[in-house]
Amino acid sequence: MSDPATSRTGSCLCGAVQVRIQGKPLEMHLCHCTICQKLTGSAFGAYVTVQDQQLTVTVKPGHDEESTLKSYKEPPKASGNVNTRTFCGICSSLITCRNTSLPVMVVVPLGILEPYPLSGDGATGAEGRGGEADDAWNAKPTIEYWCERKRSWVGETGAELVLPRQPEREEEVAKLKKIFGME
Ligand SMILES: [Zn+2]
Ligand SMILES: [Zn+2]
Repeated sequence: MSDPATSRTGSCLCGAVQVRIQGKPLEMHLCHCTICQKLTGSAFGAYVTVQDQQLTVTVKPGHDEESTLKSYKEPPKASGNVNTRTFCGICSSLITCRNTSLPVMVVVPLGILEPYPLSGDGATGAEGRGGEADDAWNAKPTIEYWCERKRSWVGETGAELVLPRQPEREEEVAKLKKIFGME
């Protein structure tokens, strides 16, 4: 069972696919790459990364699992790494992305997680404004990928690690490993 004090729930647009994340995210990032632009139809993608075991994805009763939770495997990158994304077969919302280079981690779009109630809604606790756990989920992005593709009108986020592309240089990889606790 997930701890309601720190877990976050979410769903696709139509609600057929439900997600629950237990605990805090490892990091939040923006990606300005052309794949994320196409995938989201927007200027960039905003995501959280969690350990695989923190995430539960379920298909709502009454829906066929296979046709509701679909997956798309991208062609391999030059590095040989492959991204596999899952999405809702009914409303097309992106649900997860897994990369072969980080097998125990999974990326979830920030936008499918339930938003915090606006102040004045009177909500408290896990699904409302919940102190430390709340801060972790409301933190600004830790990493920005592919800033060479960043639109000129997208402002500075103050992210800890700002990369022109993927982490390539030694010090970039070292910083990334530190953020992911992989040292
Ligand atoms: Zn859906
Ligand atoms: Zn991207």
